[in-house]
Amino acid sequence: MKPLTEREIRAAFVNCTKGEAKRLSVPRDLGDRPWEDLDYLGWRDPLAPGRAYLVAELDGRPRALALRCPGLSARTARRSMCSVCVTTRTGGVSLMVAPKAGKAGRQGDSVGIYLCGDLACSLYVRGRQDPGPGARLHETLTTEEKILRTVANLSAFVAKVTA
Ligand SMILES: [Zn+2]
Repeated sequence: MKPLTEREIRAAFVNCTKGEAKRLSVPRDLGDRPWEDLDYLGWRDPLAPGRAYLVAELDGRPRALALRCPGLSARTARRSMCSVCVTTRTGGVSLMVAPKAGKAGRQGDSVGIYLCGDLACSLYVRGRQDPGPGARLHETLTTEEKILRTVANLSAFVAKVTA
């Protein structure tokens, strides 16, 4: 994806208030991120362990989502599959919940997704990061096909949150 600045990321949030988007923690090392190998940029909030964020491009525009990880404290060693990159891992996948954008979100509507807890799907898909013992990727696909699938899965999620 195209490198983004902190300002662009803060302006791209769709499902939290402007004040929250201004205050939340954005990584300080944006200049060092491997943007060309990222389908989305995801990070956990270092100050709030139950919160995570991701920014992806949808229809050519960056969209950023605020996520909550309700199951964090009860993280088990269960095998589960990330619904974005389709990596099956033991203990490394978290249920994340995104309040919907706009009125629906203010009324409490949200969308849940099982996602790699470290939000590093792009690196697993490209083999740049090891998902750990017991992990499994669908090996019949080429890396290019896995990337396309990852982007499609993520876009569908972002579209659901912004719908
Ligand atoms: Zn993943």
